[in-house]
Amino acid sequence: MNQLPVYTYNHPILRQKATPVTEMNEELQAFIADMKHTMRGASGIGLAANQVGSPLAIAIVMDPDAGEYEDVKEFAIINPTVESFSEEVSEQEEGCLSLPGYHDMVVRPASIQVRYFNEQMQEVRSEVTGMLARVMQHEIDHLNGIYFFDKLTPVRRAMGHHKLKRIERGTVQTDYPLFKNTEEKRVFRRR
Ligand code: ZN
Repeated sequence: MNQLPVYTYNHPILRQKATPVTEMNEELQAFIADMKHTMRGASGIGLAANQVGSPLAIAIVMDPDAGEYEDVKEFAIINPTVESFSEEVSEQEEGCLSLPGYHDMVVRPASIQVRYFNEQMQEVRSEVTGMLARVMQHEIDHLNGIYFFDKLTPVRRAMGHHKLKRIERGTVQTDYPLFKNTEEKRVFRRR
């Protein structure tokens, strides 16, 4: 298993809408194993494929309410869609492996009806609530090119602007490997 480098703001793949997976194969199974390893290696609770440079509609999630981090089993959600959102909302702090050092309170529907394919490509429909509902919404947003800060009010977003600039410049420290986009750095220096 490989720990894959994590793509950070403002790499274009993080604004891309994911491509559906049509069939499971050994290569994809190995990629899912790498994604799980990468998420754990970065102490994350979710990871979308575009965060490690793949355009496929795959995310790894875990339910942090279900027990100790080491004991909870992470799983892949493939081609996930939210079929309905609860009217009730909840507000919790979120972070993102692609936005190191940036955390903020995010308001989201408290529960969702979600549909996805599991690692055996069996269709799953379930009603999810609590932190898992939040994690799934965060990851499904990634697969649609959306960051958590897109959900903030304009004022809160403006307050995080300097953090985004720091991430974009690549001057953030992480204890997990980040993808270095040299081409983007050249563009940045020209500004
Ligand atoms: Zn994220």
